[in-house]
Amino acid sequence: MTVYLVGAGPGDPGLLTVRGAELLARAEVVVHDRLSGTRVLELVAPGAEIVAVGKTPRGPSTPQEDINELLVSRGRAGRTVVRLKGGDPFVFARGGEEAAALAAAGVAFEVVPGVSSAIAGPAYAGIPLTLRGVATSFTVVTGHEDPWASGDTDWEAVAGLARGGGTVVVLMGVQTRGAIAERLEAGGLPRDTPVAAVRWATRPEQQTLRTTLGELAGAELASPAVIVIGAVAAVDLTWFEARPLFGRRVIVTRAAEQSAELASRLRELGADVLELPLLRMADPDDGGAALAAAVGHLETYDWIVFASTNAVERTFARLRDARSLGRVHVAAIGPATEAALRGHGVEPDLIPEEAATAEWMVATFPPGPGRVLVPRSTEGRDVLVVGLRAKGWMVDAVDAYRPVAVGPIDARATDADVLTFASPSAVRAWSGPVPPVVACIGPTTAAAAVDAGFVVPVIASEHTAAGLADALAAFFGAPTRS
Ligand code: SAH
Repeated sequence: MTVYLVGAGPGDPGLLTVRGAELLARAEVVVHDRLSGTRVLELVAPGAEIVAVGKTPRGPSTPQEDINELLVSRGRAGRTVVRLKGGDPFVFARGGEEAAALAAAGVAFEVVPGVSSAIAGPAYAGIPLTLRGVATSFTVVTGHEDPWASGDTDWEAVAGLARGGGTVVVLMGVQTRGAIAERLEAGGLPRDTPVAAVRWATRPEQQTLRTTLGELAGAELASPAVIVIGAVAAVDLTWFEARPLFGRRVIVTRAAEQSAELASRLRELGADVLELPLLRMADPDDGGAALAAAVGHLETYDWIVFASTNAVERTFARLRDARSLGRVHVAAIGPATEAALRGHGVEPDLIPEEAATAEWMVATFPPGPGRVLVPRSTEGRDVLVVGLRAKGWMVDAVDAYRPVAVGPIDARATDADVLTFASPSAVRAWSGPVPPVVACIGPTTAAAAVDAGFVVPVIASEHTAAGLADALAAFFGAPTRS
């Protein structure tokens, strides 16, 4: 029985520690603050008890005693409990009080530090907290918006540190920023001292405001924000907000099994990705019997043609022994399909010339006669089958999987900037709102989208997740630096 006090980091799920991720996946109970972010909670195993505590903005808050009691009772019950807190659990997060309560009750605990917003906020705004020759220390102070008023901060002393080249980082200081500025000025800090405030740091909504100590009181600013005061606040090594897709909400409509790569590429380019798993790859109506039968006598085929990673995975799942591929030639349409084959130790014998489409596969394919196996989607097009038959081949088109629509549309889809499609079946499954920009992974998907009435300004020239992400980045171009 251990209670883990875990820092969730400032919001970007990539800033959760490896230990934190491991514990979240194992936890039976997760008690989290409202600021600790929902994407991190996606790591919690299904079935775990999730309890939200703490403050709601301008709303009620759970008394600290109740939280302590909850941790003690769940810990005593022998459950694996994760107490998840925004940033670091021991930085203005009452982790110290919770640890003390657990210690007093004899419940074992472990502290997993997190990346504090005090560190991450400036970092994501491109502001180095210390800088050779400019800033030799940093002080993290609370602005006393909250119940921290146990001992008044000696702001004049803080001003003294800042005058000597120290950086001051204020958390919870938005409401009290006027008073703080006044006291720092009274402590001898010049009115023109640079100030930066980073709101919703590390999140897609991040905003950085630049001002001075004298202007801070009147500056437009809302919580939550990290306020940085000192010479380094004028340094502008902006990177996060400068990424090509920063601030753009992009809907990824791939099947759940495939959306991960596109989503992560888009996030690296700065996009606020909304993953809507519209399609799930289910068994075909015969439960895969026809595919199993075909795979059972593979040696009777001269060729097997794969048009998707799903077709590859479904086929190899039925292949008991790699040697039964024997002398069958293998053709693949699309780089992802090729990669999936290589993942199974198979180098494709044939890929289409010019473009990764069924049309080009037909054009590239040698003339028959002979037998060809095409494991495919129940929603697949007939181009390949018809084209190969016309070239003299006997073609067995076998249903390998069936894309099915899942789930309702997320409300955040309404103000998305971009809708991405990576397959014609995703186009057909889309019933949500249509954002200003529709982007397709290749010409076949784009044709399906145009057929369905979409205007498609972005078509990837390389028909992969990375190609689609790059095409969007190019479309939006580099943003102007603020
Ligand atoms: N334990 C947390 C701090 C909790 S106090 C940590 O280490 O980061 C809450 C304050 O933290 C907020 O008022 C704000 O000043 C700051 N904060 C937390 N997350 C933030 C974020 N993503 N962006 C800006 N400020 C944040």
